[in-house]
Amino acid sequence: MLGKSYKLATFAGIPVKLHWSFGLLVITLLFLEYRDHQSIYGVGFMALYIIILFLCVVLHEYGHALTAKRYGIKTRDIILSPIGGLARLEDIPEAPIKEFNIAIAGPLVNLAIAAGIAILIYLRGLPFIPDFVSIVDLYNPTGLLSLVLVVNLALFVFNLIPAFPMDGGRILRALLSIKLDRVVATRVAMYIGRILAVGMFVFAIYSWGMVLAVISVFVWYTSGAEYQNILLKHKLNNTSVSDIMLKDFSKVTLDTTFHNLINTFKTTGENNYLVYNDEDKVIGTVPYAYIADVVQRRHVETVSQQYKSGVQYVSGQTPLLQLFDQMQNEGVAIVAVRSNDGEVVGVLDRHRFSDWMKQLQNPTSFITRLFSKRK
Ligand SMILES: [Zn+2]
Repeated sequence: MLGKSYKLATFAGIPVKLHWSFGLLVITLLFLEYRDHQSIYGVGFMALYIIILFLCVVLHEYGHALTAKRYGIKTRDIILSPIGGLARLEDIPEAPIKEFNIAIAGPLVNLAIAAGIAILIYLRGLPFIPDFVSIVDLYNPTGLLSLVLVVNLALFVFNLIPAFPMDGGRILRALLSIKLDRVVATRVAMYIGRILAVGMFVFAIYSWGMVLAVISVFVWYTSGAEYQNILLKHKLNNTSVSDIMLKDFSKVTLDTTFHNLINTFKTTGENNYLVYNDEDKVIGTVPYAYIADVVQRRHVETVSQQYKSGVQYVSGQTPLLQLFDQMQNEGVAIVAVRSNDGEVVGVLDRHRFSDWMKQLQNPTSFITRLFSKRK
């Protein structure tokens, strides 16, 4: 999300961060409270409400994070913003039951808190709904208890709305995935989420609920993004390296000059190259960054003076998803594709890979770019 977050503390190895706008919201709320009632006591209670609400949201997020941990999935951090909390998991499991458990754990935490408070109110013989005339009447321990009860019930219900990025969206997708293909399940969940987003937006405009309006726009986009993500992952898993590799690639030798290499780059559009020795064996690579460096500094003449030794080989049958991780994690610019009898039959570099991915997400822009390159 946009802008800076500040780390508050770390529990169970997960940093809890506060988005700057959340701090701004708190200050605004406290200011409005003071302006309307001129009471330090009221401001104190308001601050207490905010801290408690904040804790309930944090506990909700820990519900997700700790359940994910049980499945071996780490949580990068938990971010709190005015439109809600977010536990950023490093992965979302594909097994429906795991996704379901992780998603429902958050709302269940709020339900558990609500149940605990309801029992407390009942045991103490207090009224569940205190009779109050204005919000000021809530500034006492009984009012506090009922407010926390209401807030947690609201968090429970709100998060179960079946629309991404709300937990209900994930729960819905997980349930649909039991019977449907994951891509189809996500598409259906996206449509349902978007219909709800339109409904929420209309209601928000009608009732002047600005936070709800922001959330509905967010739901619309997140639903689409979630679907695009799953679609991309599916395509990456079902396309192999040989489907998109460059078969007719330029070979570079140790005495190729960078002058020639830059010309090749201009005519063929290839960004990264394999370096061959005299015996026609691959001994290294010239990544695009090296060429750019020579263009800028003009300090070397031939490839022998500036190349990266060693090369990574992959088989043509490798799924792109696997190669994608390899390229990301190890910073590989180009791989040599080897046939079963050990011959190099093609190359695949970051550039070609990302062009292919862009084309998936936006076919028209890919075509425009292809044509504009040929000009
Ligand atoms: Zn949640």
